[in-house]
Amino acid sequence: MYISCWFCVMESQQNGPLCLKNEPKIVIIGAGISGLAAAEHLAKSGFSDFVILEASGRTGGRIYTVELDTENGQKIEMGANWIHGVERNPIFQIAEENNLLQLRHGDKGLRHRNIYVTESGEEANERIVNQVNLIYGQLIINAEDFFQSGIPTLEENDSVGAYLEREFEEKMERYKNGDKRIRELIFNQRKLLECCISGCDSLDDVSLSEFGGYEELPGVHYTIPPGFSEVLEIIKKKIPKGSIKLNQAVRSVNWNRKHSGDNQYEISVQCENGEIFYANHVICTVSLGVLKAACDRMFNPSLPTEKLQAIDRIGFGIVDKVILHFDEAITEPDVFRLELLWDSDNVEINDLRHTWYRKIYSFEIIYDNVLVVSHFCAHIKVCQILNVVMFPELYIVHSCMFIIAWLSGKEALYMESLTEEQVGQDLVEVLKKILRKTDIPQPSKVTR
Ligand SMILES: Cc1cc2nc3c(=O)[nH]c(=O)nc-3n(C[C@H](O)[C@H](O)[C@H](O)COP(=O)(O)OP(=O)(O)OC[C@H]3O[C@@H](n4cnc5c(N)ncnc54)[C@H](O)[C@@H]3O)c2cc1C
Repeated sequence: MYISCWFCVMESQQNGPLCLKNEPKIVIIGAGISGLAAAEHLAKSGFSDFVILEASGRTGGRIYTVELDTENGQKIEMGANWIHGVERNPIFQIAEENNLLQLRHGDKGLRHRNIYVTESGEEANERIVNQVNLIYGQLIINAEDFFQSGIPTLEENDSVGAYLEREFEEKMERYKNGDKRIRELIFNQRKLLECCISGCDSLDDVSLSEFGGYEELPGVHYTIPPGFSEVLEIIKKKIPKGSIKLNQAVRSVNWNRKHSGDNQYEISVQCENGEIFYANHVICTVSLGVLKAACDRMFNPSLPTEKLQAIDRIGFGIVDKVILHFDEAITEPDVFRLELLWDSDNVEINDLRHTWYRKIYSFEIIYDNVLVVSHFCAHIKVCQILNVVMFPELYIVHSCMFIIAWLSGKEALYMESLTEEQVGQDLVEVLKKILRKTDIPQPSKVTR
């Protein structure tokens, strides 16, 4: 159904805007970046009779920049965070052309300390951390090589988790006791990070033979300081106003209707509120999760078998972010990240209520509203800690800070079932232990 529509669009792009005599009517389901990009392509190619139906009350889907309640309008990404690579990356092109990248990710400068810390607050030796990181990085490259060089895996259903475990164990043979244990903890932390990158509960669920199939675009990774949602706003400017309909959850797509009477449309799209939209083509951009849950009842007649099989076979996982808002700084100003070295030997009660947070691989720290005071100038307020690099004699007072935690899998799902207060309390207990401080206040707000 939507393939035919894409053919139309691709063809018209090559030949410039179409002059459409009998312009088809098109319904796009979902106003995430895929739906918006599809609409932009249609508009650019001369189509104007289309509508985007979005279930929620906002556009963007898994791109969601939230403005925090601060003086500086500090923004946090609840979904997509980075532009992964530069070459052939349309997001990078949009961001670059519209000056959204004036503050490059790598430029943040001063807050350079990435501390690897055990749950009792012991810092891991930097040399050991670097050594494990090097081994881990090489093992990941080797794991990708199975797909990229067509190397057969040891076992038919070999997983990335099992492979990393085997290889790392071999490299650890010469270490004993504490020396070995600390290396294992760092290695486990790297694997928790990889779970968020791969969107899985465990690396044992990730196929080794397919792992290298994800092609990373060349070039550095950028964040977008004004927010990822700005990219959407730029795309939206090219879509006719009024074509995006929010709060219109699609219930069913009836797509095999014959032309009958004066109804020239083959497809009717019915929304949960009963409203019906007629179309010649439908572009469906809902997520795989929505398709898995609803495709049986959503499409009438049902989708072709090969599409159903693809929806069934492809897996997806859960990746969540939690943001703690503190009204005062609780860490040293040069700390950028606390990498968490969880030790499973310390688990007393093996129950998600007491273990969910052990899936968090790090706490990233963002300061807001930095107040800089020097002996020669009274109060200079700056938003970017970057400025402080040039004036090392200045003092810094933070009026508030945010801690961002990522987690995946069943622990993320469990976290979603807790109240925000419980999430905040659990994480403050963790922070107290790793920072060896008893006076950490409860966060003023928890966003997730
Ligand atoms: C925590 C997190 C971090 C990420 N980080 C990055 C990153 O750093 N870089 C990166 O490139 N990518 C990242 N991603 C992935 C990226 O966000 C997604 O790939 C992308 O946003 C998907 O866009 P989409 O339009 O295809 O789907 P979605 O954004 O899911 O949009 C689908 C839309 O369809 C709507 N919808 C669903 N059902 C219906 C219905 N029945 N009727 C009408 N509308 C419906 C939904 O409400 C939604 O708005 C991240 C994702 C997450 C969750």
